[in-house]
Amino acid sequence: MRGIPVRRMARWMRGMMLNYMPWMITCREFEDFILAYLEGDLPEKQRFVFELHLKVCRECRDYLVAYRRTIEVSKRAFEDPDAPLPASVPEDLITAVLAAKKK
Ligand SMILES: [Zn+2]
Repeated sequence: MRGIPVRRMARWMRGMMLNYMPWMITCREFEDFILAYLEGDLPEKQRFVFELHLKVCRECRDYLVAYRRTIEVSKRAFEDPDAPLPASVPEDLITAVLAAKKK
């Protein structure tokens, strides 16, 4: 596989899988499912395809990790206003959380 960029290869494989497994979800659908998945509201069949996508798609895996972290940070900010925010939290996220809190 010399000379073929790994990322391009992965994208190609994902495209192939979507062609041969039409029931597989796309990254866009994955995004729509995230909240329900984290809240345990996803029906079994959808959870299965969701987790399958998670296995084959690195980008969505990273996205899920970031999404989870965002939820944790917002929860912490709501529970304890004095809790220090982790250094890794981007500035605009803090602003968004604080803005949401004021509502
Ligand atoms: Zn994806």
